[in-house]
Amino acid sequence: MEKIFDVAVVGSGLGGLISAALLSKEGMSVLVLEQNQQFGGNLQTFTRNGFEFSTGMNYIGALDENQFLHPYFKYLNLFPDLNLRPLSCDGYEEIGFGTDQKRYRYAQGKENFIEQLALDFPGERQNIAFYVQRIFEISDKFPLLHLEKFRTLIKGEDYLNGGAFDFIESLGANRRLKSVLGATNSLYAGNKEKTPLYVHALVNRQFIQSAYRFVDGSKQLVEALMKQIILNGGELLNREEVTKIEFQNSENAVVKTKSKRLFFAKKIISNIHPALTLNMVEDVRLKKVYRQRIHGLDSTSGMFSIYFILKENSFAYIPYNIHHFATENVWFDKQEKWPQQFMFYTPATSRSHNWASQATALSPMSFQEVKKWESTFVENRGEEYRAFKQQKAEQLIDLIEQRIPNFRSKIENYYTSTPLSYRDYTGTLNGAAYGIQKDFHNPFQTIVLPQTSIPNLFFTGQNMNMHGALGVVAGAVLTAGGIVGLDYLTNKIFESTNS
Ligand SMILES: Cc1cc2nc3c(=O)[nH]c(=O)nc-3n(C[C@H](O)[C@H](O)[C@H](O)COP(=O)(O)OP(=O)(O)OC[C@H]3O[C@@H](n4cnc5c(N)ncnc54)[C@H](O)[C@@H]3O)c2cc1C
Repeated sequence: MEKIFDVAVVGSGLGGLISAALLSKEGMSVLVLEQNQQFGGNLQTFTRNGFEFSTGMNYIGALDENQFLHPYFKYLNLFPDLNLRPLSCDGYEEIGFGTDQKRYRYAQGKENFIEQLALDFPGERQNIAFYVQRIFEISDKFPLLHLEKFRTLIKGEDYLNGGAFDFIESLGANRRLKSVLGATNSLYAGNKEKTPLYVHALVNRQFIQSAYRFVDGSKQLVEALMKQIILNGGELLNREEVTKIEFQNSENAVVKTKSKRLFFAKKIISNIHPALTLNMVEDVRLKKVYRQRIHGLDSTSGMFSIYFILKENSFAYIPYNIHHFATENVWFDKQEKWPQQFMFYTPATSRSHNWASQATALSPMSFQEVKKWESTFVENRGEEYRAFKQQKAEQLIDLIEQRIPNFRSKIENYYTSTPLSYRDYTGTLNGAAYGIQKDFHNPFQTIVLPQTSIPNLFFTGQNMNMHGALGVVAGAVLTAGGIVGLDYLTNKIFESTNS
């Protein structure tokens, strides 16, 4: 007799792993199926010449006591296995424009954030305070961060309304301050016309609470979660690409993989893009109108990334992220000359506290730029693609030198990735960095709920409500709560972590 799991999770991204950890802790038998060799999705790392690089998540916010993520990480016993290094309290993000030497910093703590920016914009204190007040208000109202009161908060709140760009433009502040306040939009692939204010508010608020880098890469979070899943009796299989899911009745499903294996489970959680999931599920209960909506959703832009290995002891470790722009227009526009902006950071490593042995630069890139190679796969895209990547890397390094003069002389070697690399390693549609593009004009159209019209099919991951550690973890609690009862689960989490 084949084993019938209580839950099979398709994909081992953060959302899949958190859901699996929560449900296995409930005593359910859980199986996680991952198409890649490596588990973790956007938490994967890769090694070149002995240096380990994170491909996606590089810093994490809101982990300290009484902050949003703390109870979940504590409940799942993740802290003992995490090695984190704090970013600078008085400036964890640093922002600059063109050849102007002036730099602006975001500081941690509500008052500190206002104080630090007011030093640079003394006449704008009121605007800065109003901005901070508003993003705190919105994030305080956001139901995902208050799962214990999720049901009462979800109704009739205004947190979903309004756009990030419009809000910042409406501040009446000076041009430079508006650009500074919008400058971290690469953290959510900000789109002037669509990105909701709540996305901007949640992303920034979490790091104003606290910000930590993973020491030696984000893989440690994958390992910590896998350890808990295995301790709870769960199973994880890599190199198992799911190709089809069939629901026999509301208590039985069969998962088919590319290797022609069959897995049986009572419930399925899909951690992959809902549109890709629907392609695997031919079931009349998923109505045509639902399928059309999901297939019609836009994706966020992708990223072009450069992973640098630096010459030994040539470049100091930087305890903040650099966000640099060619002009004061900080919002990504795919029509403009590329690159117009980058985020640059030196990963925390156990090699040294003082010197950076490696660095990463990211710049938003539209999928259109790489579309002509869309039918190719990793390591097999041809000479023209290689030359394209080289050219883009040199252009990006030129812009980096505007901010860090002579940076080229510090580089030992570098590697690059494009939205196609993300597509092939994480299964995201069009290599989107952060999944589905949320749109404040029609918020409920772009939010995907964990429950579906098939009672034993659930979604989790960044395509639901929010991307990033905060959004994905909270989303996974919602998904697991959909299976064992949300009130029951959140009460248990908050009671156990308060005791
Ligand atoms: C460049 C970049 C930088 C980022 N930096 C940060 C940061 O600093 N802080 C932060 O909080 N967030 C950051 N994020 C966002 C964060 O990493 C993601 O939101 C989050 O990791 C997504 O998790 P997920 O659960 O949606 O799963 P994903 O990471 O999307 O993983 C899905 C998994 O499913 C697997 N899969 C796909 N199809 C199949 C199939 N058919 N069968 C089996 N398995 C399948 C994939 O291989 C993958 O492992 C960053 C993202 C990017 C791209």
